[in-house]
Amino acid sequence: AVQTEFSGYGAGLIRSLYRPRQKFTHKGSFGHLWVVGGSYGTMGALQLAARGGLRSGAGKVTAWTPQCGVDILQGNLPEVMVRTGKGKKQLTDFPQAGKFTLVAGMGLGTAKVTADAFVPWLKQWKQPVVLDADALNILSQNPEGFNSVPAGSILTPHPGEFARMVGNWTSDADKLEKARNFVKQYSCILVLKGAHTLVLDQHHGFFNTSGNPGMATAGSGDVLAGMIGGLLAQGYEPVQAALAGVYLHGLSADIGVQKLGYEALTAGDIISGIGPAFVSLF
Ligand code: AMP
Ligand code: MG
Repeated sequence: AVQTEFSGYGAGLIRSLYRPRQKFTHKGSFGHLWVVGGSYGTMGALQLAARGGLRSGAGKVTAWTPQCGVDILQGNLPEVMVRTGKGKKQLTDFPQAGKFTLVAGMGLGTAKVTADAFVPWLKQWKQPVVLDADALNILSQNPEGFNSVPAGSILTPHPGEFARMVGNWTSDADKLEKARNFVKQYSCILVLKGAHTLVLDQHHGFFNTSGNPGMATAGSGDVLAGMIGGLLAQGYEPVQAALAGVYLHGLSADIGVQKLGYEALTAGDIISGIGPAFVSLF
């Protein structure tokens, strides 16, 4: 059996995979990120992901939302284009799969109308996607769900979502074993979020060394999903996008707490730290 090697990682690894921007580039060089999700009352999650993607360098960002999201997105995020499905308060259809990078699930909801459209739609994707939050919850409720995930995709569950995906674990070792089996079965990358987030592919497990307890705040994970998507859109390999996204997300929060402290830090402050995090590293 192939063994998994585990190690910690930090600034050194992220510097080594960083691709500096060349002078003669344009927004088309940095990909087009589509953030898909949102529902009535949870449009904030989708906005946080869109902003995470923009601040991580995606060339363009489009949001796909139910109709109730249009004014909210357009009013708050002038950089983001908005396209809408037929559903008013929740998504009931999805955009045609295309040449863009997909991050799905933030604020999506798990209504049956949404789930029934989401699972077959995901099957059409051939390139790796990023799945978070309700995208994972929908797939967990569907016995065949995770077979629809394109190979090389990045899944970013928090512990509650991961328990829905694989069932409850009895120990840390059991959790790791379940994670390793999952990654092998579905040829995906797992980002197991927590105090030391684990990025797991079929051969390696990388424990992140940045981040702090101030990140235990609503919307924190939505920012991360957008950041990983923004990096994937720019052409980083999926595992690189996951590693860099997780590290930079933690570093952004570490910079935020220097001025704000743990209690006051919000997901929006993590977004404000992304620029300084890039500056401090590169
Ligand atoms: P979510 O629960 O989806 O909002 O994701 C929470 C995010 O905050 C993940 O990126 C976690 O790794 C991070 N996070 C939560 N609690 C902590 C903690 N105590 N220390 C470091 N990072 C944390
Ligand atoms: Mg989350």
